[in-house]
Amino acid sequence: MKAARYHGPRSITIENLPEPICNDGEVLVAMRACGICGTDVKTYVRGHPLIPPGSVLGHEVAGVVVESRRPDFATGDRVVAAPYAPCLSCEACRQGHYSLCEDLFESSMDPGGFAEMVRIPRRIADQALFKLPDNLDFMTASLTEPLACCIHGLEALDLRAGQSLLIMGDGPMGLLQAVLGKALGASPVILSGITPHRLGFARKVADVVIDVSTQNLVDELKLHTPYGPEKIIVSVGNADVVQEALELVAKGGAVNIFAGMPKDAMLTLPVNRIHYDEIRILGTFGFGPQHFRQALDVLAQNDNVLKDMFTHTTSLDSIEDALQASSRYEGIKGVVLV
Ligand SMILES: [Zn+2]
Ligand SMILES: [Zn+2]
Repeated sequence: MKAARYHGPRSITIENLPEPICNDGEVLVAMRACGICGTDVKTYVRGHPLIPPGSVLGHEVAGVVVESRRPDFATGDRVVAAPYAPCLSCEACRQGHYSLCEDLFESSMDPGGFAEMVRIPRRIADQALFKLPDNLDFMTASLTEPLACCIHGLEALDLRAGQSLLIMGDGPMGLLQAVLGKALGASPVILSGITPHRLGFARKVADVVIDVSTQNLVDELKLHTPYGPEKIIVSVGNADVVQEALELVAKGGAVNIFAGMPKDAMLTLPVNRIHYDEIRILGTFGFGPQHFRQALDVLAQNDNVLKDMFTHTTSLDSIEDALQASSRYEGIKGVVLV
């Protein structure tokens, strides 16, 4: 089978790999769509400590079952699979912190989504392999994984209907959070960013869009949330933006550091505000199987608008061009159609 093999920064070759062998309890999936994620782009551009050369990238996987060695899936089922599932027995899992499972990446799909076939190991098939609703196409279904991360992020913020939500960042994650915030009844949903074509999509889903390259964020926010946004999710990997969020958030509000931050980034905490205004600061990473399941329902109900997030589709053969385009922030979301 054909697969895009990663050999190190800026080096991917299309190779013929042996088809994975489907063992007891596992499922073999013929890939149909695999989203191109920020992690794939970062790994391609400058490498990744956890992703060794020789790997096949891609983890936003949707396809068709071609072999099943378990009773709950059959050949021909249209499915999405999560890239990981928790072990359910470590201390983090016992506490219900599934994204912090010590063993999270121990069991992963083989070889990766940028290939013609993937083997879904038993642990993932048990917890995070789902059949697609009929109305959901493979391309849109490949958003299940990033959307699951967003569901985890907004759940941790305890976002409730009627509360104001500020999303700082106009990347695919921020835009998904805007769709999700609306679906959860947040009001108003406000998104701030700097990239014109991404803000254009945001205008279709958020109540208020602020272009911080031309508008003053503080002034604009005052018009729509006189007391400040009740919940803020920071979806751009810049600690200065987190710092700003801590000043903007309403009394009793919460800030989620959702985006990955540079390793040595530090904050100056307004400790007086945190105490007297009862501000919560938190972070979330990844998702649990329950978020993955919920993401599929949100997608099925919002697929018309979410389809428009895909601005470039590519084949396995031209995946390097697509990764390069994404690294230049062209378009919004890219997807490999196999
Ligand atoms: Zn992803
Ligand atoms: Zn665990």
